[in-house]
Amino acid sequence: MEFIDLKSQYKILEDRINTRISTVLLHGQYIMGPEVSILEDKLASYVDMQYCLSCSNGTDALVMLLKAWGIGPGDAVFVPSFTFMATGEAVCLVGATPVFVDVLETTFNIDPVHLEKVIQHTLVMGHLKPQVIIAVDLFGQIAEYETIDKIAVKYKLKVIEDAAQSFGAYKYGKKACSFGTAAITSFFPAKPLGCYGDGGAIFVNDAIVYDYLKSIRVHGQGESKYDNIRIGMNNRMDTIQAAVLLAKLEVFDEELEQRQKVSALYSKMISDCVEKPKVRDGSVSSWAQYTIKCLNGSSRLRLIERLKENSIPSQVYYEKPLHRQKAYEPYSMHQLECPVSDMLSEKVLCLPMHAYLDEMVIESIAQIINTTLRIGEDL
Ligand SMILES: *Cc1c(COP(=O)(O)O)cnc(C)c1O
Repeated sequence: MEFIDLKSQYKILEDRINTRISTVLLHGQYIMGPEVSILEDKLASYVDMQYCLSCSNGTDALVMLLKAWGIGPGDAVFVPSFTFMATGEAVCLVGATPVFVDVLETTFNIDPVHLEKVIQHTLVMGHLKPQVIIAVDLFGQIAEYETIDKIAVKYKLKVIEDAAQSFGAYKYGKKACSFGTAAITSFFPAKPLGCYGDGGAIFVNDAIVYDYLKSIRVHGQGESKYDNIRIGMNNRMDTIQAAVLLAKLEVFDEELEQRQKVSALYSKMISDCVEKPKVRDGSVSSWAQYTIKCLNGSSRLRLIERLKENSIPSQVYYEKPLHRQKAYEPYSMHQLECPVSDMLSEKVLCLPMHAYLDEMVIESIAQIINTTLRIGEDL
């Protein structure tokens, strides 16, 4: 059995995906073919943003946006400590300093109270200029922007919504990728909307920023193809990947419904021997991951082994929070403690999650959990 079963999805969508891909193979515009801008229009209207710029992957999307805002050396960018490597990496790639912020125990998202504390600490230290907050919609649930935005206004900061895991999620009807000053997402195959390689997108409402992003996507292009007005990159999305996404977008809302069913079944069938994910009022998750919390590290280890004996894969996202990663050691002088991230990295476990997960399989996974760990067990 697979953790995220892309092959069963392909079997179901085979005809529409093959047709879209053959169209590209026949028209031959493998780079920036018509599918790319069709996809961008569809994505922009799906999330209700003015502009969507597709690109090579989610990491590059973050780098490009930070570049477009002129973020660089001497700037502080506030990043949750409990997230994927890329969120902090993008900050370093433009020469700025990531300052890690602790997360909420309930939603795993950036903790607004700790955020303000970290901003004030950075101001007192005086080496860095606070510039941007990158909030991550972890595991598919939209972060607490109602509070994050207020802090951003107070300290004159920009907000990036890292919606790499939350495409399709919404809160009171407002879609992921429409929060913050601007947003990014990823179409890595295992994300809620995934292509068959790497892909990403940036969502902005500012026409000037959009034009800049468009230029740096292709070597700092100016008026025409061989007019280069700045140093850019090669950050395009392949036409074939856009074609795959167009096919998958047609059934995406149905798949989201399925994901709601899968997560509801998990939550119904798993007992209180573990802590189950909580979704805030008015919020609908895209369920990139279904993440439980075990009592402690040793009960988690026991569960992982029991699942493995039954050929059920599980994953620990994230085993090591960013403020503990060796790669970020050079930035650690600006760092405060992140105890919740530390605690979560000991306890969390992600279960198999995709739209085509069978009810019988969910039931058997729940049963293994319920019999391996008992309610109120204290080891
Ligand atoms: C996957 C991911 C990214 C990076 O996306 P890629 O397309 O793999 O570069 C960034 N942020 C988060 C939170 C992610 O999960």
